[in-house]
Amino acid sequence: MRGDNPIRQQELNDGETLWVQEIFHSLQGEGPFAGRPAVFVRLAGCNLRCFWCDTDFESSQWKPSIDDILSQVSAFTDGTTKLVVITGGEPFRQNIKPLVERLLDAELLVQIETNGTLWVDLPESDNLHIVVSPKTPTIHQEIRRRATAFKYVITSDKVDERDGLPIESTQTNGMKAALAKPEKNVPVYVMPLDSGDPEVNALNTKLCAQVAQKFGHTLTIQLHKLVGIR
Ligand code: SF4
Repeated sequence: MRGDNPIRQQELNDGETLWVQEIFHSLQGEGPFAGRPAVFVRLAGCNLRCFWCDTDFESSQWKPSIDDILSQVSAFTDGTTKLVVITGGEPFRQNIKPLVERLLDAELLVQIETNGTLWVDLPESDNLHIVVSPKTPTIHQEIRRRATAFKYVITSDKVDERDGLPIESTQTNGMKAALAKPEKNVPVYVMPLDSGDPEVNALNTKLCAQVAQKFGHTLTIQLHKLVGIR
């Protein structure tokens, strides 16, 4: 989409139905569970509009019930897959509490990928992992308290010399803006931006590797793209 999505506000219903873009089985490509088989539940809509965003979360008009979502998820998790990734768009734009509770009750590992700006109350569980990829200067205090990992998208030349983290706005191309910093003692992943241009991507990857080495972050590459799967 590259930054032309509509900005959608948080819409909280009882959580028994959710706007869903797609549900599919693949490998988690990035972050703490990179390489693991996972079921992806991609929720529709986002409250931000990052100018480089290449994810489609707007083309579906699907609003299934939780039972329908769980039935599709269980088609994949009945085998060896134990990880369910709730992603978007922005998952916290909707009331995901009932879905998360049902997944945890089924003894699945749940990872939520969020931009960190919104929150709905979720149970505390060792099986619930919240990976925040800040896109704004501040994030919600509950996300800051509960995040199990921070992930930053790195563009060549646009990092803070003090910590290797982005200093460019994600909402306005070319504008300077430090993004929310990570909490102490929470793992930090750095991932090169996929600009769509192989030469630029090579520079982004090189810088990412350098900042990982220099500042002790963990380099993560979008494995699913490298191996040619979704
Ligand atoms: S927050 Fe994430 S999903 Fe939303 S526009 Fe930015 S990159 Fe895309």
